[in-house]
Amino acid sequence: MDDTQQYVYLAGAALFILSIKWMGQVRSSRRGNWAGSLAMILAVAGTLMVMRFSAESVAWIVGAVALGAMIGIPMAVLMPMTAVPQRTALSHAFGGLAAGLVGTAEYLENAPNIPKFVMGALAAEMLLGYLTFTGSLLAFGKLQEIIPTRPIVYPGRNAVTLGTLLLALATAVYLTINPGQEVAVYVLMAASLAFGVFLLMPIGGADMPTVIAILNSYAGLSAAAMGFVLNNKLLIIAGALDGSSGLILSILMCKAMNRSFANVLFGGVGQIVAKTESSTGPAREVKAYTVEDAVTMLEDARLVIVVPGYGMAVAQAQHAVKELAAVLEARGTDVKFAIHPVAGRMPGHMNVLLAEADVSYDNLLELEHVNPLFPEADMAIVLGANDVVNPAARNKPDSPLYGMPILEVDKARTIMIIKRSMNPGFAGIDNDLFYLDNTMMVFGDAKKVMTEIVADFKRISA
Ligand code: NAP
Repeated sequence: MDDTQQYVYLAGAALFILSIKWMGQVRSSRRGNWAGSLAMILAVAGTLMVMRFSAESVAWIVGAVALGAMIGIPMAVLMPMTAVPQRTALSHAFGGLAAGLVGTAEYLENAPNIPKFVMGALAAEMLLGYLTFTGSLLAFGKLQEIIPTRPIVYPGRNAVTLGTLLLALATAVYLTINPGQEVAVYVLMAASLAFGVFLLMPIGGADMPTVIAILNSYAGLSAAAMGFVLNNKLLIIAGALDGSSGLILSILMCKAMNRSFANVLFGGVGQIVAKTESSTGPAREVKAYTVEDAVTMLEDARLVIVVPGYGMAVAQAQHAVKELAAVLEARGTDVKFAIHPVAGRMPGHMNVLLAEADVSYDNLLELEHVNPLFPEADMAIVLGANDVVNPAARNKPDSPLYGMPILEVDKARTIMIIKRSMNPGFAGIDNDLFYLDNTMMVFGDAKKVMTEIVADFKRISA
């Protein structure tokens, strides 16, 4: 039976690795999702197949599965696409709590007869698990706007945060050397829970996706430590994959925003966003255009680049923009979609929506490939995007966005901005792009405006 379990685990591990590989490409991401789900089923089956069941243990397992399903299924079905980041944060919180509690239970059951290596892994599991729990809960609260999204900063915060981390680390080391000191477990728990809170408090809106990726990494490392404690190889592999992929994702996201880790974690970025230069300076004017104007401008365009953003997701305008692309292509216009790595509210957000609308993968261009095309574009349609096209990232060193690579739509011949008002985007700052001579603002809901433009084109060609 044990051999069978090892084969099942091996198949599970291979599927986890393939799943990550496949999810790296839009084309194979669905396959990646299925592979990951199958790997998880194998992991659970492999674990259950060597267990000796009693009526009591069956009741606990069935109860836990039922409780998990009761929370997980509504979360997956009911939470809208736009809420996926906070849903992910909540899942990490549960993962972290589970790891922390398993670690504590293992300790209480076996102390003081715990070998040093196992005690070290247990301490790491509890530290990472509990800090992931509170950190992720805070991330959830901020993204769901249950608590203020702005960074909460106070004098000496870095010293408090680092001091709490040092206390947690020192206690973990102490416990590893003296596994019998039960009180140290409670100090470790308290310090780790507090560190999660202190770590997340000063982090503001724009940095939340990166921090969620880092928390993902911590949850994975905590699971890997749990694998060592429980001597479960698949858990070690899955945890290590989770830990490393979360870390790689956060590095890629830092690069996309031109930020360093230290700056994300300790920068307190965003506390100045409420007071923008233009909100204190003289009022500036923008030029508002109608749908008819938009159609006239699009009629003779040869190359149109659509830049989707969070507003497209909110309006669910992906099908309407795909229809516009089809109408324009039928007239001989070349239509491309520019994808910024942090457009929307989660990594891959725009890819997912446009794939759902059946936009050809060949027409989705990443930042570095599409930027050289903007000077040749007759029209850049900015559909519910804002921060990812803000030129302040290039030319305003005091802007919170400064240094973030952006889609250079300002280099297109004409820029059409479709949004509902002059409200800022996620970073809360004004956008000079709206005031350029070659910018036309078409105010309205992204889906409504797209649908009206398509209807107008159809009327013209009828
Ligand atoms: P954004 O800067 O948040 O701007 C979105 C714009 O969409 C808003 O200015 C809003 O203006 C408009 N909008 C909202 N609803 C709309 C609707 N129904 N129809 C038309 N327009 C609508 O979005 P972004 O350019 O995609 O930038 C993403 C930002 O989110 C970045 O700052 C990024 O760092 C951050 N972020 C990214 C992730 C990620 O992983 N992708 C996760 C979290 C945060 P109106 O209100 O005037 O319509």
